[in-house]
Amino acid sequence: MDKEREKRYFELFEQMINHITDPANFNREHFVGVLVDIAKLFRLSKGVTEFYKTVSQEKLGDGEVLVDFDTGQDGRIILQKRFVTKSMAVVKGTLYMAIDEEPLPEDELNKLDTLLRSLLSFVSRNRLMNAVEQMGFYDEYGYPNLRSYKRHLEIINEKKTMGNYTAGCFNLRHLTIINREIGREKTDIAMRNYFDLITSLVGNDGIVCRMGGDNFVLFFKNDLEKKITDAFMGAPVAYDDTNDKRVMVSASAGFYRIPKDFNYDGMTRIMDRIVPASMIARQEGKGPIVFFREDFLDVKERNMELQLSMSKAIADGEFKVFYQPKVDIRTGNIIGAEALCRWFRDGKIVPPGDFIPFLEQSMEICNLDFYMLDLVCRDIRRWLAAGRKAIKISVNFSRKHLVDADLLDHIMEVIDRHEVPHRYIEIELTEATTDVAFDQLRRLVNGLQNEGVYTAVDDFGVGYSSLHLIREIPWNVLKIDKCFLPSDTDKKTGIANCMYSHVVAMGRDLGLECITEGVETPKQVEILRECKCYFAQGYIFDKPMPVADFEKKLDNPHYDVQTL
Ligand code: C2E
Ligand code: MG
Ligand code: MG
Repeated sequence: MDKEREKRYFELFEQMINHITDPANFNREHFVGVLVDIAKLFRLSKGVTEFYKTVSQEKLGDGEVLVDFDTGQDGRIILQKRFVTKSMAVVKGTLYMAIDEEPLPEDELNKLDTLLRSLLSFVSRNRLMNAVEQMGFYDEYGYPNLRSYKRHLEIINEKKTMGNYTAGCFNLRHLTIINREIGREKTDIAMRNYFDLITSLVGNDGIVCRMGGDNFVLFFKNDLEKKITDAFMGAPVAYDDTNDKRVMVSASAGFYRIPKDFNYDGMTRIMDRIVPASMIARQEGKGPIVFFREDFLDVKERNMELQLSMSKAIADGEFKVFYQPKVDIRTGNIIGAEALCRWFRDGKIVPPGDFIPFLEQSMEICNLDFYMLDLVCRDIRRWLAAGRKAIKISVNFSRKHLVDADLLDHIMEVIDRHEVPHRYIEIELTEATTDVAFDQLRRLVNGLQNEGVYTAVDDFGVGYSSLHLIREIPWNVLKIDKCFLPSDTDKKTGIANCMYSHVVAMGRDLGLECITEGVETPKQVEILRECKCYFAQGYIFDKPMPVADFEKKLDNPHYDVQTL
């Protein structure tokens, strides 16, 4: 290399180093200009840098390939460098020379080698920084995460336009059912496509991020509300890349329209509003959207308070069992009873609907259920000891218990501790909402069955009780929810009667004992008889009653059904 060229080489080398060691003033255009000058000096035709986050991504060709310059001539490779960084990322650089160009002498090739190595060390650092950002703002599946959400809110807040936006939190509906129908992998694809759909609706006027599982948050300009709500009502999304098979996906959401005078002081204030609203939307299932109301904040505080006071309330004996008889409508005999929880708090009776949903948000419900089972076993033991005729008592167990791998042992321990014959206990469980829970449910029911403890699927007909659930699990009893029972005003030939009679027939065909809940009128008893559902529970016989009243009933366990 002659002196003149060598001088030029050092000049360009210095310029390149200045560019890459001063990231604050980095100008891509100027930098590429330097690279082009270097290419000219060495008579290169093309330069390519590649970056792969992992070695396996390199194998798959899944990375970033950057053509730094290209004269368009056909070329041959004259230099190629590849190295693996400490974090196992791969950086590659390839330099080409036109085919008819004379090869570079040894000393020039060495200089080029030094240049390329410096360049690659910059590329790897630069790309790794991008990768770090990617990791910080996206979750492991590539969905933008809550950090992205926060960053977006901060940008909008700086522009002082928050008042034009709505914040929301949404949850996909019936994902278990979709899972069961098309499998987990395809459900993931469907979820991704649904996310992409909502993201495209929001466009540049907001953001959609994933919190975890099938829970997402979004932020969008108010005028998009209708479009987004429509998509939450249900939209067909593809789940198979190879054909155009589609599945309907819908969501329930809590929205909070940001007030014009909103004072943004972090994400918490927004999350505290959209999360409870979305939980209410999920529970109610009336429409896809519930808008935040100020009283939701009280609910949140009340929840906390309730959860804190629970253990104390159990210790203080504030929870009591009420019993509601189950009756054979052919004879009027009491065939069993359901144990239902009542909370005596500050002189008032709190019904379960007011506290169980909150306890179910934590594992606190499990303590309560075991406490109830314990009270029931005590009562049965006392009746047996007093020579009273005992009957089967059913106890409700929340599906929250299903995460307990030793649940069966725990239940049996309580029953056996009180020396209660197993046939006097029935466990009522509602449907499982996830596949994992489904397997656990099956294991539990099998286990209880082996122990001679009865099992009932409670609230059949509410929500999405699937046939799968009752066919695959060996239940003893099907408890048909009152929502399936026709009311007095329903036509005999109407849809309600038709559905009810089919459900009973199906239960019976599957060999299940059927009982209908919420029977209130003689006309309904008549319907039960006609449909051959001979067991009933409801206000027509008795409301749930305190143990002292129930014991009196046990002395004469009979209702007059002839006059009904
Ligand atoms: P469930 O297990 O389906 O209990 C039946 C509910 O229907 C009871 O409400 C009962 O009082 C009510 N009911 C019975 N007959 C009639 C009727 O003729 N008409 C009407 N309208 N309602 C009737 P309750 O006692 O308010 O309990 C509500 C729910 O709370 C229960 O539904 C059960 O899911 C839950 N629950 C109650 N106690 C416990 C418990 O100890 N543990 C758990 N995990 N859940 C419980
Ligand atoms: Mg029940
Ligand atoms: Mg029920």
